[in-house]
Amino acid sequence: MALAFDEFGRPFIILREQEKKSRLRGLDAQKANIAAGKAVARILRTSLGPKGMDKMLQSPDGDVTISAHLLRCLFLFPHVPLCLRSLRLLLLCLLKLLHCELPANDGATILEQMDVDNQIAKLMVELSRSQDYEIGDGTTGVVVMAGALLEQAEKLLERGIHPIRVAEGYEMASRVAFEHLEQISNKFEFSADNIEPLVQTCMTTLSSKIVNRCKRSLAEIAVKAVLAVADLERKDVNLDLIKVEGKVGGKLEDTELIYGIVVDKDMSHPQMPKRIEDAKIAILTCPFEPPKPKTKHKVDIDTVEKFQTLREQEQKYFDEMVQKCKAGIVREKSFGTTKDRMLYIEKCANSRAVTIFIRGDTNCCYVGNKMMIEETKRSLHDALCVARNLIRNNSIVYGGGSAEISCSIAVETAADRHPGVEQYAIRSFADALDAVPLALAENSGLPPIDTLTAVKAQQVKENNPHCGIDCNDVGTNDMKEQNVFETLIGKQQQILLATQVVKMILKIDDVISPSEY
Ligand code: ADP
Repeated sequence: MALAFDEFGRPFIILREQEKKSRLRGLDAQKANIAAGKAVARILRTSLGPKGMDKMLQSPDGDVTISAHLLRCLFLFPHVPLCLRSLRLLLLCLLKLLHCELPANDGATILEQMDVDNQIAKLMVELSRSQDYEIGDGTTGVVVMAGALLEQAEKLLERGIHPIRVAEGYEMASRVAFEHLEQISNKFEFSADNIEPLVQTCMTTLSSKIVNRCKRSLAEIAVKAVLAVADLERKDVNLDLIKVEGKVGGKLEDTELIYGIVVDKDMSHPQMPKRIEDAKIAILTCPFEPPKPKTKHKVDIDTVEKFQTLREQEQKYFDEMVQKCKAGIVREKSFGTTKDRMLYIEKCANSRAVTIFIRGDTNCCYVGNKMMIEETKRSLHDALCVARNLIRNNSIVYGGGSAEISCSIAVETAADRHPGVEQYAIRSFADALDAVPLALAENSGLPPIDTLTAVKAQQVKENNPHCGIDCNDVGTNDMKEQNVFETLIGKQQQILLATQVVKMILKIDDVISPSEY
């Protein structure tokens, strides 16, 4: 730091930042970045799968957040013996005392709350967020995959392979895996008349959530909502047309699907009718008036008649605008003994928008109504995404790590076809694909390497890409039999996104950090 003066004699301070900036170049930069990425992936690795662990996160103001697995276990088993139930209540009271939140247990949420500082770690958070945004599922898996790719890349760099060669090899391998996924995919059959398969799938998604008690009705609501806004011919679903609203009170079972919208308002006067059919209403976010001319005009009115004509003209224009508005039914609904009222606007001709109106009860008196509504919203979001993904593309691949193992075998074989240095990176990609089944096995208390080796050998022997990790100890590791599947686009997206992020990280060879003042 130095004090200097400008031409008017005013003092100013020169910070010699450049000298103090810490700088990492070449291999050191890549290693530091890889370490940061791996650290994030390591945190999420233990959360993967049906038996994943929980994370306890403390916010700067001291509030504690526990990811939902633990809480879920407490709610899902109401049949546990009384002594255990007392323990459950005790724990819930404790959580309440700790001001616990009830977040979804997915990677995106955990990372969101970790408030990471490092730029590379932020990239991993973004990675999970992109997967959530595009697909709505697989947010933990994508980070685990990226972490494994980074781990393998580190080994290759240490062996003296240039990062660009690694990036190229990864790109080739990801293409092989992408295409292989398509080959092992199956079609998930359903139609507008036969929505049961879709309902069953959404039920599977909801079964691991706290709202499990109402999974059948919520799954039906989610599927009907998605079908209401879906364009089955173009295979397009605009989830923005589905509004998910919640109001404290009532029971979760009262959650309903409204083919229209719900406004948290009542009729402005008590004497107004509570139900208006064939109503004409417009809900606007802009003024409702005849357009004003952009240029200035002068109208000379010198007689009363001329004024009348002008007024009538304006009136007519306005009338036409009103006539153009179509709204079906407006009705006011009041809830139970409370004075709460809402306006339902339904059967509108020009809008396909639907609303899922959640009523939040206390599943047990220890979880607040509001929390329940928030958790229901998150769970429904997952179910809506699953249904939307299947409508967009009804191809599925089987889960439990089976698809990754099958891809790993295919990529390994592809490596032999490449004579260049890339083959090392391609082989490493195949090893990285094993990270998901390894984590699933480890998290389920199974010996990871032994389990993976056995499953891989079985896939090769039986030529069956559906063999995966039997996390729940069902007795078969055929994921088709267990009905554990993921959408093809979701899995493909995971591989593409993880590869892109890792390539991006590998291409950074200079890290300049700000000076520490
Ligand atoms: P993500 O946020 O990536 O979806 P999850 O914690 O939901 O992470 O775990 C998803 C992984 O768990 C997937 O690989 C999926 O195939 C696997 N999985 C889910 N249910 C089962 C099951 N019953 N048996 C084996 N694997 C399962």
